[in-house]
Amino acid sequence: MSFAPLRVEWPEGKTFAFSVFDDPDAETLADSEAIYGFLGDLGFRTTKAVWMVGPIREENSPGETCANPKFRRHCLDLQSAGFEIGWHHAAPHSSFRQETIAALDAFRDCFGADPSSMANHYNDEAIYWTADRLTGWRRAAYRLLSRGRDRRYFGADPESPYFWGDICRERIRYCRNFVFRGPNNLRECPWAPYHDASKPYVQAWFSSTEGANCASYLQGIDEAAQDRLEAEGGLCVMYTHFGHHFRPGGELHPRFRELMRRLSGKNGWFAPASTILDYLREQRGGLHELSTAERATLERRWLKEKLFHGTS
Ligand SMILES: [Zn+2]
Repeated sequence: MSFAPLRVEWPEGKTFAFSVFDDPDAETLADSEAIYGFLGDLGFRTTKAVWMVGPIREENSPGETCANPKFRRHCLDLQSAGFEIGWHHAAPHSSFRQETIAALDAFRDCFGADPSSMANHYNDEAIYWTADRLTGWRRAAYRLLSRGRDRRYFGADPESPYFWGDICRERIRYCRNFVFRGPNNLRECPWAPYHDASKPYVQAWFSSTEGANCASYLQGIDEAAQDRLEAEGGLCVMYTHFGHHFRPGGELHPRFRELMRRLSGKNGWFAPASTILDYLREQRGGLHELSTAERATLERRWLKEKLFHGTS
């Protein structure tokens, strides 16, 4: 079943909206300076997620954290320039409830407010992750197909020492969930941002375009994808890790430069993810409440992508 994508009246006569939600995995300060310097010069103002505190246990991922004063300064400079700083959990390892709360307090002290948006990292406190992204037979199917490789996460489990769902609901507006290959997220998910009653600890969810590493990013927003996004007047939030191969040999990938330069020449709204989601929400007169049928549609679409294309 195919749906006509939602048509949105974008602000200031813009034709479409584009953002990036960049997870900090493997990203160095030098990566971030090079990439955000380039994007900023082209007029992009996107979302950069951070780990607020440095590791106190063994890390599960490389990548700079706000424990480094130079990196923190860099993030504050980006924020002043109009980029959004988002949340990727407290640290590059699992954090217990009190640690998460302390790190959120540190984020607020540093950046002046709670994060508006987040994306899960593979920490134990991830919220509604892996099979828990789905409901009903789709959850059972996901479990069956992942054959025990499916790890459990505890952010939404009040019995767990990693639980912080109530805090998440109180302090963070948007959480990334389903990722699709298409450039227009409103095609697969015309309801974003939406509330899903089956996941009560998250205020609102949004979808993204697959771009987890440089290769998939370049594919996700190639010339054809850009033109389609523009023609459909859509919304694209690229899901990525700018730490994953965007600077081979220390230089910005030439194809990344070429594509982002091309995109910047279009009449797009290049704003942070939360700014765009706030706008959509306002246009609709409030947050969309996902119906049971819509949830089934969305989950089915993603499950298909996951199974056949391995999207995130
Ligand atoms: Zn991550």
